[in-house]
Amino acid sequence: MTLTSAKSLLLSITIFFSILPAPSFSFDIERSFLQCFTSGSGNSNLTSGIVFTKSSSSYNHLLQSFIRNLRFSDNSVPKPNLIVTPREILHIQNAVLCAKKHGLQARVVSGGHDYEGLSYVSDVPFLIIDLVNLRSITIDIKSDSAWIEAGAALGELYYAIAKHSKIHGFPAGTCPTVGVGGHLSGGGFGTIFRKYGLAADQIMMPRL
Ligand SMILES: Cc1cc2nc3c(=O)[nH]c(=O)nc-3n(C[C@H](O)[C@H](O)[C@H](O)COP(=O)(O)OP(=O)(O)OC[C@H]3O[C@@H](n4cnc5c(N)ncnc54)[C@H](O)[C@@H]3O)c2cc1C
Repeated sequence: MTLTSAKSLLLSITIFFSILPAPSFSFDIERSFLQCFTSGSGNSNLTSGIVFTKSSSSYNHLLQSFIRNLRFSDNSVPKPNLIVTPREILHIQNAVLCAKKHGLQARVVSGGHDYEGLSYVSDVPFLIIDLVNLRSITIDIKSDSAWIEAGAALGELYYAIAKHSKIHGFPAGTCPTVGVGGHLSGGGFGTIFRKYGLAADQIMMPRL
């Protein structure tokens, strides 16, 4: 073999390897995560409608639904390997444990109003826990209290209170689509905060 043909063979080998599809690291993680998630409950159908991989038909729709700052929709911005939409606390526990096992960072989305994208962008491989299905609100006027799941929106909370009472309210922000999870954990000020303080001054986090 001449030097030239050896060089061209080397080049063609190099090209041959470089155009082969990269090993599907992402696919392996997703498959293994799904196994981990289901084994946490012993129910093999558990992931259906709850865990969405990049190949799920609903993945893009779901992702776009909480990306409020469209700058982060761009293809150059890293996207989550998985989106988990828990329907009960067990699903959150499974998602966190399996994320840790697979070296995935977990990001939590409540109302998606973090315009810096903290709830749905990361520089390392990650998954999103989207609380969209955990938004129940139970009002107890007798004890002047309410139990709110973190995926509820402020507008839903105000509406639920108004349905029970004409004289009760809750001191929080003005935008009805802001999520309770991000708003209450970050302070939360609104039109009656001079008298009643921040939303965070009025809440208790349950120990689970
Ligand atoms: C249009 C608009 C109007 C606004 N009006 C007001 C206002 O009147 N008063 C005011 O105080 N603020 C206001 N804000 C700011 C808003 O309160 C914050 O951006 C808040 O963090 C948004 O919460 P979210 O759940 O909607 O956002 P997300 O993007 O879902 O979450 C925000 C942050 O909280 C974290 N997070 C969310 N849920 C949880 C959870 N359950 N557990 C742990 N971490 C969680 C996320 O990971 C992220 O880091 C406004 C924002 C917008 C865009």
